[in-house]
Amino acid sequence: MMVEAGYETVAREIIKCTRCPLHESAIRRVIGKGSCHPKVFFIGEAPGDNENKTGIPFSGRAGKQLDKMIEYMGLSKEDWMVTNTVKCHPPGNRKPKINEIECCKPFLLSQIILLNPRIIILLGNTAERSFCPGRKLEWGVPVEHEGRTILKLYHPAALIYNRSKIETQNAFIDRNRGLWS
Ligand code: SF4
Repeated sequence: MMVEAGYETVAREIIKCTRCPLHESAIRRVIGKGSCHPKVFFIGEAPGDNENKTGIPFSGRAGKQLDKMIEYMGLSKEDWMVTNTVKCHPPGNRKPKINEIECCKPFLLSQIILLNPRIIILLGNTAERSFCPGRKLEWGVPVEHEGRTILKLYHPAALIYNRSKIETQNAFIDRNRGLWS
C-alpha cells in the first residue's frame, strides 16, 4: 500500500512512525540521500549522532569516507542513493537490534521497490542481516537476490584510519566495476 502511494508517502510514514522503541531516541528521521533514479543503492547500518541532528545519512566522518568510496567507484551524483537499515538513531550509537531492523524493513523495501536500483551494495554485516536474512555473502562477491545484484562491501566507518582495509575495498570495487559502469 505504501509503495502504491509513492515515495513521499513512504517518507511521511517514516517521519511519524512509532513502530519500534528507536523513535524515542530520534531527533530527526534519517530517510535517505541521493538520486531518485539510482543505479546503485547503498544500505548502511543506522543513523549516528550527527545524522540524528541533521536528518542526513552519512553526514559525519563515515560519510566523508563514503564520498571517497563513491568517487573511487566513478559514480556521479545521479547514480546513487544511500540509506540505513533503520531510520532512527539507536541510543548510545549501539547497533540496531533484530526486532528494530525487522520493524523498519517495510520502509527499506518500499524505497527499493520505488527507486528500483539495479545494484544494492550492503555496507557491512548489519545491512546483510537486514536485506538478506539467512544468507551469508562473501565480501566483494556479487550475487543475484530477488532480481537484483547484491554486493557486500565494508562499511565506510570500518575504513577510517585503516589503510589495508581501504586497499582491500578498492580491490573489491575494481573487480566489480562492470556492474555499474
Ligand atoms: S527505526 Fe524505523 S520502525 Fe523504528 S520507529 Fe524509526 S522509522 Fe519506525
